[in-house]
Amino acid sequence: MSAPRSAIEIVTIGDELLLGFTVDTNAAHLARELGDDGFRIARRTTCGDDAAQIADAVRDAFERTGAVITTGGLGPTSDDNTKSSIAAIFGRRMRLDENIWARLQQMWKARGWPGEIPESNKLQAMIPEGAKILENRHGSAPGIWLEDEHSRWVAMLPGVPRAIRGMRADTLRPRLRAWRGSAAVTVVRSRTVRTTGVSESALHDKMAEMRRRVHGLPLAFLPGWEGTDLRVTSRGLGDAEADATLERAVADIRARVGDAVYAEGADDMADTVLQAMRARGWRAAVAESCTGGMLGMRLTAIPGSSDAFVGGVIAYSNDVKVRDLGVNASDIDAHGAVSETVVLQMASGVRGRTGAEVGLAITGVAGPGGGTEEKPVGTVWMAIDTPLGARAVMSRLIGDRDEIRRRATQGVLNLLRKALSA
Ligand code: ATP
Repeated sequence: MSAPRSAIEIVTIGDELLLGFTVDTNAAHLARELGDDGFRIARRTTCGDDAAQIADAVRDAFERTGAVITTGGLGPTSDDNTKSSIAAIFGRRMRLDENIWARLQQMWKARGWPGEIPESNKLQAMIPEGAKILENRHGSAPGIWLEDEHSRWVAMLPGVPRAIRGMRADTLRPRLRAWRGSAAVTVVRSRTVRTTGVSESALHDKMAEMRRRVHGLPLAFLPGWEGTDLRVTSRGLGDAEADATLERAVADIRARVGDAVYAEGADDMADTVLQAMRARGWRAAVAESCTGGMLGMRLTAIPGSSDAFVGGVIAYSNDVKVRDLGVNASDIDAHGAVSETVVLQMASGVRGRTGAEVGLAITGVAGPGGGTEEKPVGTVWMAIDTPLGARAVMSRLIGDRDEIRRRATQGVLNLLRKALSA
C-alpha cells in the first residue's frame, strides 16, 4: 500500500445530499474529528443511492487509499445497494446474520408494532461474508467493517448524523487506532474563542501584531450573527504539543480581546448568561416584541435553564405591551413602540409581573417593511432591568429579518452578560 496508514477517504451516500436537500454534515463531522485524532482525510466524495454509483465511488476510493468510510444507505429501503455493492468489491457474498435478525425482531416487538416483522426487513440483517459488525448504540442499523488480507478496509456507517457522532467516538475510533498502529502522529486541532459586540475591524486592530498568526498558529476571523469567532488551528504537531500551543494561543487572544470574549468552542451566549445568573441566585424573564419568543427559545434551549429563567411575554402588539407589561399608552403615542422609554418599561414590567430578579426586553423594526427615515429597518432597542439598575441601548442591526432578530437576542444577552460581570 503506497499511502501512509493515516490517510482515509470518506464517501457519503444519498440522493438528498447530491440534490442539496440535505447538507452533508456527516463528512464535515468525520473530517474534523478524524483530523483531531491524527488521521488525514485524503478525499471526500458524495454519490447518489444508485448501486452502480456507489460501487464506482467506493471502488475508486478503495483503490487509491485502501481506507474508506461510507455513510448512509443502510436503511431498509436502500439496504441492498450499499452493502452488496461494496461486498462485490471484496468478492464477498451476502449472508444472513442471525444475531442482527433476532435484534430487529426484538425491536419490532418492543416498539409495540402489530404482527410479525416483515420479511423485507431481513435485508437489514444481510451482511457480507467475513464482515465485522460495528455496534450502533445510537440507532437501529449497525455499521459494517470489511477488511481484506492487506489490512485495507471499508467501514460502512448509517446516515443519521446522531448515529455517526456516537459511532465515530465509541466504535470506530478504537478500530482506526488499531489499524494505524503505534506510529507517532500529528493532529489537526482547533480552538475557537467567541467574541461579540465588537467589529471585525476592531478585532483585527487588537490582534494586529500577530499578523494572523498566534504563537505560530494561523488565526481565522469568522464573523456571523452571534459575533466574530476567532479560531486558531494547529497542524503538524503531536497531541500534547498541539494542546499546549493552543492553550497559550487562546490565553493570548483572551488577554488581547478582553471583555468581548463571551465563550469558547460552540458554547452559546445564553449558557454563559444563565451561569452568571445562577452564580447570583437570580432568575430572568423576557419581554419580546420583534423577536416573538426567540430570546426565550434560546434560554430554554440550554438544559437546566429552569433554575435561572421563569418565562415571559410576547408583546408584539401595542395592546399587549400596555395590558400585560404595563407600558404607558401615552409613551407609545409620544415616542413610538421602538423607543428607549418603551423598552425600559417592557423590561421593568416583565420583571415586576413575574417576580424575576432580571427583566430583558427587545423592541425593534425587523423589516423588510415598516422602516422610516428616523427608525430604519434594523433599529432595535434592547433593555435590561436588574437589582443593579436598568439600562437600554439602541443598535442599528444589519441583515435580513431573521438575522436582525437573532442579532437582537444576542445583543440583549450581551448587555446582561456585561452588567453581571461588571
Ligand atoms: P438508517 O438505517 O438509520 O435509516 P441509513 O443508512 O438508511 O440510516 P439514510 O436513509 O441514508 O441512512 O439517512 C438517514 C437520515 O440521515 C436522513 O434524514 C438523511 O437525510 C440523513 N443523512 C444521511 N446522510 C447524511 C449526511 N452525509 N449528512 C447529514 N445527514 C445525512
